[in-house]
Amino acid sequence: MTERLLSDREKRFLENYSVIKEKIAESAACIGKSEHDIILLAATKTVDAKLINFAISQGINYIGENRVQEFLGKKDNINTEAKRHFIGHLQTNKVKDIVGEVCMIQSVDSFKLATEIGKQCVKRSKIMDILLEVNIGNEKSKSGFQAEQVSDAVAQISKVEGVKVRGLMAIPPICEKEIEIVRYFDKMHNLFIDIKAKKMDNSSMDYLSMGMSGDYDVAIRHGANLVRVGTSLFGTRNYK
Ligand SMILES: *Cc1c(COP(=O)(O)O)cnc(C)c1O
Repeated sequence: MTERLLSDREKRFLENYSVIKEKIAESAACIGKSEHDIILLAATKTVDAKLINFAISQGINYIGENRVQEFLGKKDNINTEAKRHFIGHLQTNKVKDIVGEVCMIQSVDSFKLATEIGKQCVKRSKIMDILLEVNIGNEKSKSGFQAEQVSDAVAQISKVEGVKVRGLMAIPPICEKEIEIVRYFDKMHNLFIDIKAKKMDNSSMDYLSMGMSGDYDVAIRHGANLVRVGTSLFGTRNYK
């Protein structure tokens, strides 16, 4: 293999990645888990295919995109070794463009969206793993199921052909203090545990996706097993 010099952004990625891996291992250890129990998904919005591919070559095996147009524009240049998740708001009319391209849609925020995903998957003889997005802070600006609705939503969506509910996802409100965000993470974890205990047909509560750059370590200590990290891996973006 020919050696080449790393670019500055590749070096920065490597430094960031090693810090994050260490923090993930420490946080997991705090609650008796191993780093292997935690999935680190690289949130790759605004990151170009070249840097994404470098990240994949260094061990990133899950990537998450949240804008349909951006994703479609760069997907063909991204190494197929990493699993692809869709993590952003998805309009029903865009579902057909996405279902063939990802192995999980984390941001299912309505029965209507789940139904459309199912319909498009049945056409392609496939089953899409989905997470239900919970609006855990009850914020007007955010989509997602209300905490009180989630259990019923899982039951209802489990009956939809072409999709399989695999867990829950949340983006809690921005909090200044750790103790505030912990409340939301705990609430999500409790929901996750309660629904898991119901053992509903055609659904399995395997993934609790919460925690981003500022709080993924806290999220892990409070039950997350899938964290979505962008800025802390790749540096600051121009847009959220
Ligand atoms: C951008 C994004 C992230 C990552 O956010 P950072 O703060 O950059 O780590 C996680 N989840 C979703 C849904 C996102 O859109």
